[in-house]
Amino acid sequence: MFNSFMVKITASFISFILALGTFFGAYKAPKTQDASKYFDDNIKNVIYLIGDGMGFNHLEKTKVERNTELVMDTFEIKGSSMTRSFNKKVTDSAAGGTALSSGIRTNNSAVGVYPLDKTPRYSYPKSITELCMERGMLTGVVTTDETTGATPSSFSAHEADRDNTAELTADQFDSGINLIWGHSNGVATKSEAQAHGYEYISTYDEMMALEEGSYSYAQFTTQLWNLEQTAPYTPTLEQMTMKAIDILDDTDEGFFLMVEGAHIDKKSHSNLSDEMTEALKSFDDTVETVLEYARAVGETLVVVTADHETGAITPEGDGYVFTSGDHSAADVPVLVYGSDKLIANGEKLNNYEIPIRIAYVLGFDETQFPVAVIV
Ligand SMILES: [Zn+2]
Repeated sequence: MFNSFMVKITASFISFILALGTFFGAYKAPKTQDASKYFDDNIKNVIYLIGDGMGFNHLEKTKVERNTELVMDTFEIKGSSMTRSFNKKVTDSAAGGTALSSGIRTNNSAVGVYPLDKTPRYSYPKSITELCMERGMLTGVVTTDETTGATPSSFSAHEADRDNTAELTADQFDSGINLIWGHSNGVATKSEAQAHGYEYISTYDEMMALEEGSYSYAQFTTQLWNLEQTAPYTPTLEQMTMKAIDILDDTDEGFFLMVEGAHIDKKSHSNLSDEMTEALKSFDDTVETVLEYARAVGETLVVVTADHETGAITPEGDGYVFTSGDHSAADVPVLVYGSDKLIANGEKLNNYEIPIRIAYVLGFDETQFPVAVIV
């Protein structure tokens, strides 16, 4: 009797310790603690491209169905990322984005906050965008999604819920990020943007007229993901990305730019093969242009990855098919150009390690990232 009671107590104690271990495990990066190992003196700029929902088989499906090669296949350094969130095996884009921006795992729906966050909060994890800004680097967030989509928000806001659009918008206006560009979220207004020092733009021509080092908030109103401009006034992801680089790249401190192709995920949720592969091709064209820039200019780390896989794409016959309308737990690609310090070829790492290592490549150390901002 006594023995079985003790066994139960011991068992609960052990599971409690294991739970604690899991909890603190989310904040530690055992494999990445030696920052100096990752430092690369040659790197000044970072371009971080996120194909939302893009698994390995998204690339295969696109190549087969569009009979095309992909620039993403040509990277010499390729690894994979394990995408789970703090509380779920299958992450959503908020927790996935937070892992990629802040070096921690959080709960699904949470944007740039800790898993146990309750508003009002006392601390939040610093994002890599904020870290780079502190060094004087110029920063930008570009997406085909709404400006307050889960992924761009993870790099520019801290809120307990991805659906808090007004709060996310307010965070972005207070962020100090040079440019935040995407599809209109229906909440951000021109007057509010201007009151916070941002030029408010909504057309291709307005975007192209922006000056180097300027501050801008873009609310484009038509589709942003296609291979071609869908209206005379709407840029493609590639056009947005090149203009963003042009605005950001004229300081000695360097720049940090996050670029998201959101419709790989959206079209996978709907199992729309033609539109998914078009969105992926558009993303790949953007990667190509970014690589051309990095090759020409040097000093630029290019990282391409995804927050999770969507659609559980599986080989079938000569092709690839969607087998789900949701996210899956499949690992996703990590492609690197510009430095051999970030990952070893073939390395498999946790999603949250990616921004930690990017910070270390830039010369930040364990005391600087990941860290909590006390508010
Ligand atoms: Zn996502």
